Amino acid sequence: MKQGKCPKCGSEEVYSGIEVVPKSGPFGSNSIPVSIVSIAALDNYVCTDCGYLESYIADAEKLKEIVRKWPKVNRVSQEKT
Ligand SMILES: [Zn+2]
Repeated sequence: MKQGKCPKCGSEEVYSGIEVVPKSGPFGSNSIPVSIVSIAALDNYVCTDCGYLESYIADAEKLKEIVRKWPKVNRVSQEKT
């Protein structure tokens, strides 16, 4: 998606909302809670053909905080091949 192509429908009509403000704060729809005292701003990418949305956390410190505070998702062993 960051490379400008939609992974769902293959369209190249991908737009980046990384400059959209507010990125966080009281109108925090463009952010997610990391913990009760911490939120992480999101960079959003939208495909305007199918509406698919991808979000990325750009702040490396928030990513480290998630590693410390969130449970890791274990890979399911019976993966389809
Ligand atoms: Zn798409």
